[in-house]
Amino acid sequence: MFIDSHAHIHMLVKEKGCQISEIIDEMKENNVYAVANICGNENEFLFSQQIQNVFLDSGISFFSVAGFHPHEAEKFIDSPTRWISDNSDAITAVGEIGLDFYYDFSPRETQRKMLRKMIDLSLELQKPLIIHGRSGEDEIVEMLLECGFKDKKVLFHCYTGSFETAMKIFKNGWYLSFSGIVTFNRSIELQKILENSPVDRVFFETDSPFLAPVPFRGKTNTPAKVRYVYEFASRFLNIETSDMQKRVKDNFERFFNITIS
Ligand SMILES: [Zn+2]
Repeated sequence: MFIDSHAHIHMLVKEKGCQISEIIDEMKENNVYAVANICGNENEFLFSQQIQNVFLDSGISFFSVAGFHPHEAEKFIDSPTRWISDNSDAITAVGEIGLDFYYDFSPRETQRKMLRKMIDLSLELQKPLIIHGRSGEDEIVEMLLECGFKDKKVLFHCYTGSFETAMKIFKNGWYLSFSGIVTFNRSIELQKILENSPVDRVFFETDSPFLAPVPFRGKTNTPAKVRYVYEFASRFLNIETSDMQKRVKDNFERFFNITIS
């Protein structure tokens, strides 16, 4: 099976007009049998719970991840985080959290404060971390090391940072997730990172509705299309797709401390 390690299905439904049943059918047709749905506030999480109910009879494993995104650090910096701690049993990881100094949608100091707050929460709840880093990866690495995260469960989603930082991430025992960006012709550095990644530390994701892989560039992305990211990576690394599937499933189960049937 293929696994989409990072999607925002609630956005597909609310903003793109997709039907949950269509998303499920397309996933089944493409052999995508697990997905982590990433929620950035309480309303998204509540809606994610409803989506999960629709997924119940589908045979597809559905997991919710929750945290405040760096883009919205300013909006939520004083908001309570009880919706996360109170629902800790229904949440597999804290994320996506981090620093985004490319878009700078929130002041950098507020982003740092929010990241620290989310790191503390993940320690309290003993949950893995899903990181969003854009032009802020090195500072995130430093902060994680200061907070004692070496060899703990940390996943840098949709990684687009430097080769050097990627190797640091692996050296610290952490994980990387590749999105459709790796399939683009111009993604030379990212492809070099893929080539040098330990296979027991990688994930593939859609980040849907964003970042559709080749040959769907520019279209709305959906969890089913993670298949094209896997297939690209398998071809690129000269590994059988079935072997890649097995290894990433092992990674997913180990990272989230779950079993997928
Ligand atoms: Zn992100």
